[in-house]
Amino acid sequence: MATKTTSKGKIQPKKGAADQLKDFMIDGIKDLYWAEKALVKNLPKMAKNATSPHLKTAVNDHLNETKVQVKRLEDAFKALKLKPQAVKCEAMNGLLKEAKEIMEETEPGAVRDAAIIAAAQKVEHYEIASYGTMATYAKLLGEKEVLKLLLETLKEEKTCDKDLTKLAKSEINVKAK
Ligand code: FE
Ligand code: FE
Ligand code: FE
Repeated sequence: MATKTTSKGKIQPKKGAADQLKDFMIDGIKDLYWAEKALVKNLPKMAKNATSPHLKTAVNDHLNETKVQVKRLEDAFKALKLKPQAVKCEAMNGLLKEAKEIMEETEPGAVRDAAIIAAAQKVEHYEIASYGTMATYAKLLGEKEVLKLLLETLKEEKTCDKDLTKLAKSEINVKAK
C-alpha cells in the first residue's frame, strides 16, 4: 500500500553516514565484531546455567568457534586495510539481555535448558541474517577474501543452529514438557 511521504518520520543521517555500499558493509562488520566479542563474554554464563551435559558441551563448543570468528573478523578488517573496530550492536545487546532475563525467569533444569536453547537460537538467527547480508555485499563488491571469511563463519552459525534444534527436539524440550 502506498504511504504518504512527509518529512515527518524521516531519519536525518548522522555525520559521516555511509553513502556507499562498501562503507555500509564495513559498518556491518564492525557491528558483528562487537556482537561476537559480546558472545565470547556471555556464552560461558549460558553454559554454566545449563543442566544437560549435551547442552553445556554444545554451548562451550560454540564458544570456541566464536573465538575463532572474532579472529576471522579481524582478518576481514585486515583484508579491507582497516584496523579492527567494534561498534555496539544494539540487537545483540538486547538478545543477551533477554537471555539473562529468561534464565532468571526459569528454574534450573530442563525448563531453563529449553530457555537457553531458545535464546541461543535467536542469537544464531541474528548472526545468520547479518553474515548472510554482509556476504552478499562482499560478493557484489568483489571482496573475495572478506567473502571467504564471512562464509566460513556463516556455515558455522547455521550448523550451530541446526545442532541446537536437534538437541531441543531429541532431548531438552521433551524433558521440559
Ligand atoms: Fe558467531
Ligand atoms: Fe547489529
Ligand atoms: Fe553463533
